[in-house]
Amino acid sequence: MSVAVLNPATEEAIAELEQAGVEETDAAVARARDAFPAWRAVAPQDRARLLRRLAALVEEHKDELARIESRNVGKPIAGARGEVGMVAEVFHFYAGAVDKHHGQTIPVAGGVDMTFREPLGVVGLIVPWNFPLNIASWKLGPALACGNTVVLKPAELTPLSALRLAELALDAGIPEGVVNVVVGKGSVVGQRLVEHPDVAKIGFTGSTEVGRSVMEGAAGTIKRVTLELGGKSANVVFADADLERAAASAPYAVFDNAGQDCCARSRILVQESAYDEFIDHLVRATSALRVGDPADESTEMGPLISAQHRETVASFVDDEAEILYRGDAPEGPGFWFPCTLVHASNEDRIAREEVFGPVAAVIPFDGEEEAIRVANDTPYGLSGSIWTRDGARALRVARALETGVISINSNSSVRVSTPFGGMKQSGFGRELGMHGLDGYSEVKHVFYSTER
Ligand code: NDP
Repeated sequence: MSVAVLNPATEEAIAELEQAGVEETDAAVARARDAFPAWRAVAPQDRARLLRRLAALVEEHKDELARIESRNVGKPIAGARGEVGMVAEVFHFYAGAVDKHHGQTIPVAGGVDMTFREPLGVVGLIVPWNFPLNIASWKLGPALACGNTVVLKPAELTPLSALRLAELALDAGIPEGVVNVVVGKGSVVGQRLVEHPDVAKIGFTGSTEVGRSVMEGAAGTIKRVTLELGGKSANVVFADADLERAAASAPYAVFDNAGQDCCARSRILVQESAYDEFIDHLVRATSALRVGDPADESTEMGPLISAQHRETVASFVDDEAEILYRGDAPEGPGFWFPCTLVHASNEDRIAREEVFGPVAAVIPFDGEEEAIRVANDTPYGLSGSIWTRDGARALRVARALETGVISINSNSSVRVSTPFGGMKQSGFGRELGMHGLDGYSEVKHVFYSTER
């Protein structure tokens, strides 16, 4: 069966792709299994060289990849170019990490004990539609660096950039069978990867609900899993912060990628004594955001991914919502939704569930203790920010927040060289940085007796 791939800004079909089933998935796993012994045996420096070549090819094809991503996801082209830049950086980083990820020698009686970082084998990578190429690279980089072969399943809605990346991997000289992309439904291809006895690990990014089913499915074969799931992160603004700077940055922290970002600071917690002043700045900054044609270089926010998703997002802004600001969005075709700021309590649905759209809940709080309590009162724990001029408070609150990633006087928390991942129901395992390698290798220890 073939399925049309749409441009969410125009609703036009931009490709028609055959959907793989269980048989094609099994064939891809078999190719990856066959390719594994030779790939793991490639000398570290040569594997690094191949990853470096892939990074260079991604850089060379930056405009092409950015255009693919922009048309398929509805991302503003300037942002898409930045994302492709990060993909290249990821491959550069893991090329450099290949020969720096090594074992230890441990003092023991009667001999020498040494550890090795062994690859897992065939790994299944299941990625979502919000940052298709970026999130694929966060998994592919460390998986390949450690000597695994991979089967990558992109989201049904956004398979195009993954297919192009697989071609570039071949052009880079990475052998046939090492990187396999299978386009098909999550409930078919994804599920099969999760249950397949020859798949050693699943690296998953997506919803908490599907993450739960991945964990359940993986139990059958005691498969390793790392899960990067949803978020409902807090952007905590204290009255002593540089309010203008915090407000100027806040819209990008939640409306970037039209809010379809697991790190979105979608709960903006503002200390009551500064609430009115902050809201004035925030509304001004939000109204300046340029929403429109993703192909336009100056656009900052595009449409949502699908009609169905727009319906879900709209359901959070009902007649009872206390709207502080609602922006404009283009009329006509495309899955547009305006930037929306809603005054809320942390008990409201809009503050509890992941909206995954350009809708922020603004929640007042009284003091530091209440800020911590409200920020932590969520099943999620992925990201967040703290804005204050009091350095001791910034660190106190950063340590108290139950979240895997946090930024102080900034909303930026994703970097190639630093660990990324969640606490609580935002998942477990860390991606990026040297920590990312732990999820794609297993420690083996070897005892070598030196007794006569
Ligand atoms: P999903 O969790 O459904 O999709 C993520 C990936 O998992 C996709 O490749 C999907 O394939 C695949 N998948 C779906 N079902 C299964 C399954 N049973 N077994 C294995 N893999 C499966 O996210 P959605 O795209 O449906 O988005 C729903 C919500 O999830 C969003 O509104 C948002 O709240 C959250 N989300 C969070 C993301 C994050 O970055 N943490 C990313 C995306 C979504 P297919 O596309 O073919 O269904």
